[in-house]
Amino acid sequence: MAGKKEYYVIIIGAGPAGLTAAIYCGRSGLRTLIVEKTVEGGQILKADIVENYPGFPEGISGFDLMGKMKAQAEKFGAEFVNEEVIKLIAHSSKLIAVNSIGGSKYFSKAVIIATGANPKELGIKGEAELTGRGVSYCATCDGPLFKNKEVIVIGGGDAAVGEAVYLARFAKKVSIVHRRDRLRAAEVLQDRFLKNEKGQVIWDSTAIEVLGTDRVSGLKIKNLKTGREEMIPGQGVFIYVGLKPNSDFLKEGPKLDEKGFIITNEDMQTSIPGIFACGDIRKNALKQVVVACSEGAQAAFSCLRYLENAH
Ligand code: NAP
Repeated sequence: MAGKKEYYVIIIGAGPAGLTAAIYCGRSGLRTLIVEKTVEGGQILKADIVENYPGFPEGISGFDLMGKMKAQAEKFGAEFVNEEVIKLIAHSSKLIAVNSIGGSKYFSKAVIIATGANPKELGIKGEAELTGRGVSYCATCDGPLFKNKEVIVIGGGDAAVGEAVYLARFAKKVSIVHRRDRLRAAEVLQDRFLKNEKGQVIWDSTAIEVLGTDRVSGLKIKNLKTGREEMIPGQGVFIYVGLKPNSDFLKEGPKLDEKGFIITNEDMQTSIPGIFACGDIRKNALKQVVVACSEGAQAAFSCLRYLENAH
């Protein structure tokens, strides 16, 4: 294609799904651009260790794994820019314009959206005010700051329990506050946490307020069965209550579900021809690195087929 900012494929988001799509598109000889808002790697960068990605029996850090994926995408010719996309526009019947903050415009015949999802906030009193001052959404980033301190983890899924196990390496006590009487996390993670002498679970309880003025000093919780409220001390509060999709820029774009995840068919095709989606941003995706990679490969294949037939 002629023109410096024209590509065959633009991939938005450089997590496992986007980077895998870039490997497949680049290796097929398509001029491919990846536009990433922050740093390449996505959510999994925050994982201290990834134990369930095949090929690494001893586990690999999220940082190392994503470094390898980026290097592989670069090897096959993918170009990268770090910009935030704000809009996709059907520029002509055959070109899509990708507009980013700062006024850049890139054009392509097809787009693959792989923008993933970010941690949800709880929306309780003190949470926003004390974020960065004891409230965190990333144990790998902030865990080492809590050596010999007491920390509280909110949530009961893989992220909460896995990160609670990690926090127990540093903290002197780790309390999980969970709203039910059963954890949702994989058994292997539950076992690891429940066997750790520094760990405890406070069952059937919801967080009401993060306490503290300059820094976190504790959490006010309420037992949902008895209605009893109590304060638990802690210098860190780590919140892992699920994910919200990064799809705000798609208001006029492909169809989303009620939560904002992109609806696709099994070929990763969205409601708009030439626009595909893969990974955590997709409705019903199993949120695992290996699945994001698989969907990235499928999106790239579908994109190739679309380009062969449409142009
Ligand atoms: P998740 O699986 O959706 O779990 C969210 C947890 O937060 C649930 O325990 C939920 O409680 C609780 N929760 C939700 N809203 C809440 C609220 N308002 N107040 C209190 N608690 C609330 O989310 P996740 O753990 O972030 O994981 C997201 C996805 O990534 C999952 O598919 C997970 O399997 C995957 N993941 C995988 C790994 C791994 O394979 N090692 C690691 C991390 C994440 P309930 O249980 O009562 O619903």
